[in-house]
Amino acid sequence: MVDYLIVGAGLSGSCLSYRLEKSGKSFLVFDDGSQEASKVAGGFMNPVILKRFTLAWNADRQLEKAYDLYRGMERSLNKSFLSPLEVYRRFSSVEEQNNWFSATDNPRVSPYLDPKIISSVNEHVPGRFSFGRVLGISRLNTRYLLDSYAEHLQKNGWLRQERFEYEHLSFTDHGVVYKDIPAKNVIFCEGFGLKDNPFFQYLPLKGNKGEYIIIKAPGLDLNAAIKSSVFIFPVGDDQYAVGATYSNTDKSRSPSASAKEELVEKLKDLIDVKFEVVHQIAGIRPSTIDRKPLVGGHPVYDHLYTCNGFGSRGILLAPSLSEELLAHIEEQQPLDPMIDISRFTKKWYKEN
Ligand SMILES: Cc1cc2nc3c(=O)[nH]c(=O)nc-3n(C[C@H](O)[C@H](O)[C@H](O)COP(=O)(O)OP(=O)(O)OC[C@H]3O[C@@H](n4cnc5c(N)ncnc54)[C@H](O)[C@@H]3O)c2cc1C
Repeated sequence: MVDYLIVGAGLSGSCLSYRLEKSGKSFLVFDDGSQEASKVAGGFMNPVILKRFTLAWNADRQLEKAYDLYRGMERSLNKSFLSPLEVYRRFSSVEEQNNWFSATDNPRVSPYLDPKIISSVNEHVPGRFSFGRVLGISRLNTRYLLDSYAEHLQKNGWLRQERFEYEHLSFTDHGVVYKDIPAKNVIFCEGFGLKDNPFFQYLPLKGNKGEYIIIKAPGLDLNAAIKSSVFIFPVGDDQYAVGATYSNTDKSRSPSASAKEELVEKLKDLIDVKFEVVHQIAGIRPSTIDRKPLVGGHPVYDHLYTCNGFGSRGILLAPSLSEELLAHIEEQQPLDPMIDISRFTKKWYKEN
């Protein structure tokens, strides 16, 4: 008997497993590599919405929890996943520049926005208007973190690299049995894979495909990230990640020619040096119709939970929402109604 089965080892499932491990609970994780949103993510731990210069929902608390958890993982695994990153916003109009100035007067956002505007960040990144510096941003190397944590889980016998087959789940008075494994609870963290989950597919998960191109640009010599109509940031060896795209129609996992074309066009407007596209990556963001996460227990099956719906900012959300969900299950703490899936139960759940 294990305390928990966790389905999915993206950011959501890995933050949950890490918390279970630290609290001495027994668990088994399943992952079949069918989704990659966490691994292809840009990795920005950014509380500021750079379109509007406002703070994301609950950002201060989430940032604190995120640093706590990822630093803890770094110590546990003796590896480094977080690094500070200089981030600049290239303004596209005087109006945008003025909005930045107004935002620096807001005491909630001002700690993250440098009021001093600068005219140039790099000679190969021309700007008709100036640049604003976003303060206190770190980048999480999500692929390295998730691969390292999976290796740790594997070594301890806590990971099965296989598909969780929903039809093999049965229910008892005190929990569930998956194949021959009895467990007290199951938490489903399949990202966009939730669409195949017969217990939770009633939830309004939309999915939004995002792609990055990786370019080689030896003449650029850029050490910071710049946000314009796309983000560009250095990934080492004269290479830069450029993205991401947003598509609500294409839900395939493979990189597309149209995204590459879009990103190349936007990049040409951002830098004035030669570059070559060396790689392209894609993932489906598990976005929701109200842009809020999907966390909580199944309306009928007592021992089934989900921690999903991180369409954006999963890096900030997963550490705090994994804590909230476990407090809900273990200590019956109420969930924030904004994230609780019960907001959809009445309208969306229909028992067959
Ligand atoms: C291009 C792009 C850029 C992004 N940039 C950022 C960023 O800079 N900052 C940020 O905070 N967020 C970013 N995001 C969003 C972020 O990636 C997501 O919020 C987050 O990664 C979602 O994590 P998840 O664990 O819920 O889902 P996923 O990462 O999709 O993980 C789900 C896991 O479940 C597994 N799985 C699914 N079904 C099954 C099954 N039946 N059996 C076994 N395993 C299964 C999959 O293999 C996968 O490993 C970005 C997303 C994309 C696509």
